[in-house]
Amino acid sequence: MTEPDEGRGKEGRTRRCGWCGRPFVPPAGPGRPRLYCKRSCRQRDFEARQRVRAEGLSDGELVVTRRALDELDDLTYVLACAVEDVERDLAGEHDADDVRRSLEWLLEAARPLAERSRAGTVLPR
Ligand SMILES: [Zn+2]
Repeated sequence: MTEPDEGRGKEGRTRRCGWCGRPFVPPAGPGRPRLYCKRSCRQRDFEARQRVRAEGLSDGELVVTRRALDELDDLTYVLACAVEDVERDLAGEHDADDVRRSLEWLLEAARPLAERSRAGTVLPR
């Protein structure tokens, strides 16, 4: 994933956040290189590693709450339904208004996941 607004000079310094995977440009200057795009990502990674140690899990395993997983399943289900609806709508006869309604429905279904992604992770806080 590349950010369209990255300047040439910054490109060489772009790295991926150790928690959310989002590309970011660490500030120039002395000190340890930053591994996370923001403080909350560093905190979440720290907490996750604590949990991994406490549960005796291996690297790459992650503990999430049932509630977090259920919420994510629900949002994904709504999006999957919207995709099905829109595919069906576009397969049949449709005019510009139908396409607009389909697109609005798809956006409405996708928006909660997109907002979470922009906030740093699809998992609830
Ligand atoms: Zn991050």
